[in-house]
Amino acid sequence: MTATSAQDIETAARLLAAATDVTLLGHVNPDADALGSALALGRVLQQRGADVRVSFGEPDEAPETLRWLDDGGLLTRADALPETDRLLVALDTPTPARLGRLGARVDAVRAAGGDVLVVDHHATNARYGTHHVVDERAEATAVLVTRILEAMGAPIDEPVARCLYAGIVTDTSGFRRASPETHRIAARLLEAGVDPAEVARRIVDDHPFAWLPMLAEVLAEARLEPEAAQGFGFVHAVVRSAAAETVRGEEVESVIDVVRATREAGVAAVLKQTGPALWNVSLRSAGGVDVSAVASEFGGGGHRRAAGCTVPGTSEEVLAGLRAALERAPLLGAEG
Ligand code: AMP
Ligand code: MN
Ligand code: MN
Repeated sequence: MTATSAQDIETAARLLAAATDVTLLGHVNPDADALGSALALGRVLQQRGADVRVSFGEPDEAPETLRWLDDGGLLTRADALPETDRLLVALDTPTPARLGRLGARVDAVRAAGGDVLVVDHHATNARYGTHHVVDERAEATAVLVTRILEAMGAPIDEPVARCLYAGIVTDTSGFRRASPETHRIAARLLEAGVDPAEVARRIVDDHPFAWLPMLAEVLAEARLEPEAAQGFGFVHAVVRSAAAETVRGEEVESVIDVVRATREAGVAAVLKQTGPALWNVSLRSAGGVDVSAVASEFGGGGHRRAAGCTVPGTSEEVLAGLRAALERAPLLGAEG
């Protein structure tokens, strides 16, 4: 960590330690890193006596698999938030646009002279706050939150540790991409009482039976294009509304983790239909091609090896656009 980051963390710790009223926000369609980071920090601030709420722009309710992270009942629907915030903390969110309908709160707080703390690990972070703990080398926002909590000298109880562990285990793909230091953080979280098997089972490995016929239908239409993506190979699958409607969002989000395991493809995409001609696209790279550049071309973003975007058109048009963008995407070096 650079000296600047250490100072940023100290400054954030002091800001949070003095806070009496805090709104913590994750990105739209929050994942375990966004919600886990917000709920962990929120719980500590609540224990210190602050009024705290955790929210996100859409959908109205948190994914079922993540609700058990909210031990203290901090989750608040976006339409039930107070009109203004004293201190706004945005987590795992590179731009105000990724806060969805809550994005306008950033300017409102700043205009009222309040503080906006941005805690994030996206390389594309726009530094839109008044204070920033932004480090693209962190594998998860939860890693940065852990550092802030340690700088605050805050006790990390099991519910806090569970939230942080959930963010880390998912954003590192089950510790496949975790540094020695992040493994050491995970060890401290286990010492605080986290049950790693339970976290993985409840968040990653728990699906209703309807998941299997949905996967069967979607995977039957998966296609491999071995020459695409500058020769790295491109595999893709399409989840149409009819298939998506048979399951929860969690099952739809799981499809990319199956498709990305395809050996012959360096890049994987899953198109998830959200309207008659609108698709959320998940992109994954095995390390050859920078998929955040591809997502950026369509107004999305993410990380070099995991990115996403929302694209209009037919599924064939979206795939054609991705194919073309993959041909001009930057290649990643040995460090991936
Ligand atoms: P996902 O495929 O939804 O798991 O997303 C992978 C990564 O891409 C995450 O780190 C997100 O931050 C990012 N991402 C996904 N969708 C979008 C989007 N529409 N705009 C910007 N970033 C996105
Ligand atoms: Mn996220
Ligand atoms: Mn993250």
